[in-house]
Amino acid sequence: MPYDNNNVFAKILRGEISCSKVYEDGFALAFYDIAPAAPTHVLVIPKGEFESFQDFAARASAEKMQGFFYAVQKVASQLGMDKNGYRLISNHGKEGGQVVPHFHVHLLAGKPLGALVAA
Ligand code: AMP
Repeated sequence: MPYDNNNVFAKILRGEISCSKVYEDGFALAFYDIAPAAPTHVLVIPKGEFESFQDFAARASAEKMQGFFYAVQKVASQLGMDKNGYRLISNHGKEGGQVVPHFHVHLLAGKPLGALVAA
């Protein structure tokens, strides 16, 4: 499926929609989720047209992958999430619960997060 340039995260990357920015570098942008599922809930997205983790892992260069995941840990340490722990989630596709078709990881922290998947 071709990448949808009109998805909300593409618009955020182009500056057409504002976000509450946490971190940015040449590879990634991180911002607070508008509907937080934990006391701290941040999304990290790569700069590039990647639909999902599956797409990113298959097509991104080694430099882009390294740069992206380096940014994820930078965000976690910048927000102090690395001290007490955090959860890293990426939803892929319909049954994975992906809503926005631009690869992103959720960083969740700030309380004990309980079971991985609700029954
Ligand atoms: P997913 O279900 O993995 O695709 O997650 C998409 C996430 O994006 C959800 O947690 C939404 O709350 C979040 N979201 C959607 N639009 C925005 C936005 N404009 N700014 C910040 N977060 C958003």
